[in-house]
Amino acid sequence: MVIVMAPGASDAQIDAVVARVTEAGGEAFVSRGDERAIIGLVGDIDRFHGLNLRTYPGVAEVVRISTPFKLVSRQHHPAMSTVYVGETRVPIGPDTFTLIAGPCAVETPEQTLAAAEMAQAAGATLLRGGAFKPRSSPYAFQGLGETGLRILSDVREATGLPVVTEVVDVADVELVASYADMLQIGTRNAQNFTLLQAVGEIGKPVLLKRGMSSTIEEWLMAAEYIAQRGNLDIVLCERGIRTFEKATRNTLDVSAVPVAHDLAHLPVIVDPSHSGGRRDLVVPLSRAAIAVGADGIIVDVHPHPDTALCDGPQALVDGDLRELATVVRQFPSLLGRAPGQPLGV
Ligand code: PEP
Ligand code: MN
Repeated sequence: MVIVMAPGASDAQIDAVVARVTEAGGEAFVSRGDERAIIGLVGDIDRFHGLNLRTYPGVAEVVRISTPFKLVSRQHHPAMSTVYVGETRVPIGPDTFTLIAGPCAVETPEQTLAAAEMAQAAGATLLRGGAFKPRSSPYAFQGLGETGLRILSDVREATGLPVVTEVVDVADVELVASYADMLQIGTRNAQNFTLLQAVGEIGKPVLLKRGMSSTIEEWLMAAEYIAQRGNLDIVLCERGIRTFEKATRNTLDVSAVPVAHDLAHLPVIVDPSHSGGRRDLVVPLSRAAIAVGADGIIVDVHPHPDTALCDGPQALVDGDLRELATVVRQFPSLLGRAPGQPLGV
């Protein structure tokens, strides 16, 4: 059950609802949006019905939601949400198409700046780059850690691009949030519930990748863990799932985009780089993502893919990147989407 407070409801009115629910043996999680607060209730629904919460001052609506994800569900929030990233407020949402690009991993200041400039020239308004890398092999490059975060922050300074970077450990959430504009949860941590709760409490937008073996419902329940801690600035990212097919690294589930849009009010973007794992597939998969209504894409670029420490075979450079830039400039406008440009401070 979800309690929707009226716009402008006071803290005392919210506290009164929370106190009543707690008294009745339930738990209440408050999410404060730009316009209104909503309170998700956990516990005995029939008992909550008996509390007549609708009559409490400041309560606009009491909504019984049948899905196992509630705060992110369109049943309680039919309008699609826009998430704004960074001080310059780069939008990701239904009216725009946002290109996020950058190196898979931060390697050096020069490589990161070069990749960011390539990304920006291609129309990217957000910079991606991993400082903490969740590698399948413990012998693979694990990322530069805080040194990488510092490089990202310097490159943000130089280019103006807000930074999206992954956090893999609860212990690093505060550190990563102190440098990043948006925290990424990778596919391997998509059901790490304590990590999801921790990023839900940090007050920065979250990019939540779909677990490589997660159903869409599991993905949305993962988002609910973040939302339940008070953070509804969540962007979902379809990045390919595990199937029997070996020709591609993962199988891009294009239907996940419209299905997730139908069930949840959160923006949905696609990662064509980690889906296919092949440079030659990035542009075709990006076209597919735009066609099915994705709100953006996140793409690996690298100035020297042949020597990249991580995921070189899928990184765009030169002609491929120029082709992607053309697609991103031309195709989303056919569907009425503007480029995801910063709104300004
Ligand atoms: C990444 O984007 O750098 C990454 C590791 O992606 P995924 O979690 O989708 O594998
Ligand atoms: Mn990668």
